[in-house]
Amino acid sequence: MFRPLLSLALTAILAASSFAAAAPENAPASFDQLLRAMSSAYDAPPQPVAEDVLPAVEKALEGDPRLWITVAASTKEERTRLLEMGLSIEEVAPNSVSGIVHRDSLPAFQAKSVGLLASMPLAQFAVSAYKDFPAQDAAYHNYQEMYDRLKALEAANPDIASLFSIGRTVQGREIWTLRINSSAKGASPSSKPGAVFQGAHHAREHLSVEVPLLFAVWLLENRNNAEVRKLITTLDIYIQPMINPDGAEHDIADGKYKWWRKNMSTNSGSQGVDLNRNYDSWWCEAGASNSPWADTYCGPSAFSEPESRAVRDFVKARPNLRTMISYHTYGEMVLYPWGGKYEDIPDQNDLKVFRNLAQGMARLTGYKAQKSSDLYAATGDSCDWAYAEAGIFAFTFELTPKGGWGSSGTFYPGAGVIEKSVRDNVQAALHLLKYTDNPRRAAAE
Ligand SMILES: [Zn+2]
Repeated sequence: MFRPLLSLALTAILAASSFAAAAPENAPASFDQLLRAMSSAYDAPPQPVAEDVLPAVEKALEGDPRLWITVAASTKEERTRLLEMGLSIEEVAPNSVSGIVHRDSLPAFQAKSVGLLASMPLAQFAVSAYKDFPAQDAAYHNYQEMYDRLKALEAANPDIASLFSIGRTVQGREIWTLRINSSAKGASPSSKPGAVFQGAHHAREHLSVEVPLLFAVWLLENRNNAEVRKLITTLDIYIQPMINPDGAEHDIADGKYKWWRKNMSTNSGSQGVDLNRNYDSWWCEAGASNSPWADTYCGPSAFSEPESRAVRDFVKARPNLRTMISYHTYGEMVLYPWGGKYEDIPDQNDLKVFRNLAQGMARLTGYKAQKSSDLYAATGDSCDWAYAEAGIFAFTFELTPKGGWGSSGTFYPGAGVIEKSVRDNVQAALHLLKYTDNPRRAAAE
């Protein structure tokens, strides 16, 4: 019981003394100085991790009986109690703390009265600490952080939220799905009209993870709002923030963006298939490449990839699905089918539905609504397939930035764009949910 407190005290003393050494009392850093120091830290090139560091980190902690855990706590009293239970608190967030605990102490943290949000072997945490976003973009969620966030949402809303995987990636990662439904959990069927929100088919489009993930946070936080409650009780809502976690993790693996787009399949002499060219909608006919080294490689056959197959099987098993958004970056657009053909979809009534819903969502985000192929034709994308195969009103969003002159950032616009993108897109996603019960109502507007 005393040791963690002692070590915390020691840490505090060390921190205080090093601060005193760096900034003597008679020369305090001004606000501007402090800001400059922080900016220059952000501008510094990320430190590459030497090849041998990760295995060494892992080996050093192999068999170590300690775990890195995250526990709900929002008051100093709660944090104190956790210290007393044997947790060394290393990180404090507004509603949770993280730190190290011995596995023999774990059962106490698993008790119902304690909100254990996540746990992993210390070796795993130590390695993951080296694999992350560059410091200036630390606000973005990596795969583990996304999982922790979803898990915490499930834990905080056990009556209406459930977390399950729709399948595994090439490298064996689970493709996590948070379901919000007041009467069905996990993979069990529901006859309520369904809506799907997907992110990160493309690895480097990290903002496309934040938008659906934080929409889930928003929905559950506002679950008692009358309008939201109505949606939650009448619909079957699925949120899949990272369809391509292998690629997304690869893109940030050494703290330096790789501009990676595809999944992590091994081709002969190259790596990766463009998952949004791998669906069976005029597969590889236009706007996709047969060359395995190309960024838009369509793969050896339609649905050759476990990630696109997982989405296919998920959709086919749920005839109740009515609406879908697949988030991408960038361009600030709301796109509707066809993407693979220049023609309009043949059903004139459905075309009106697509146009009216897209325009409604465009008004709320400031994006531009258009037929996807007006941008360029691309076959094998998820939205064409979902509409053609299952009649789902499926939209591709190209998030911020807008691109072109006067727009900053491309796939990596920085953490500063997250807040506005999320706020605007919460409204657009809500707009679509209001029509999910019967999207064809939108034809009349
Ligand atoms: Zn994309």
